[in-house]
Amino acid sequence: MEKFITLLREKGYKITPQRRAVITAFMNCDRFATAQQILDHVKQLYPDVSLDTVYRNLTLLVNLGIICEIHTPGKDSNIYELITTAHHHHLVCLECGKTECLDFCPVTKESFDLIGKKHFKIISHSLEFYGYCASCHTQ
Ligand SMILES: [Zn+2]
Ligand SMILES: [Zn+2]
Ligand SMILES: [Zn+2]
Repeated sequence: MEKFITLLREKGYKITPQRRAVITAFMNCDRFATAQQILDHVKQLYPDVSLDTVYRNLTLLVNLGIICEIHTPGKDSNIYELITTAHHHHLVCLECGKTECLDFCPVTKESFDLIGKKHFKIISHSLEFYGYCASCHTQ
């Protein structure tokens, strides 16, 4: 928690109570949270906070690399995850929205080499897998 606050300060951002509350909300959620879930947490402390404020803070945290945004097609809202582990990818269930972390990166060195041939300098990549989780596809 404090390391995120320190990071924000180093980057010159003010630590507003709402901003702190958004980060705290992440600590209190299990791993993944939607903007609405974060809002529900933050509202317990700051009833006046709007979904807009939450989104603005989430976007900032994504840009700072504190959280990552996982796109969930067909769902109302994307899922956010606090970045606590190294680079990884996700399996997202299109039915129930269950998200699982993948503990390996399936992008091969060969892919990087092929992209390198296009004279494109890669900084990062993101990749999610969409489908149906065990409890959804067996129904
Ligand atoms: Zn599912
Ligand atoms: Zn993850
Ligand atoms: Zn990867």
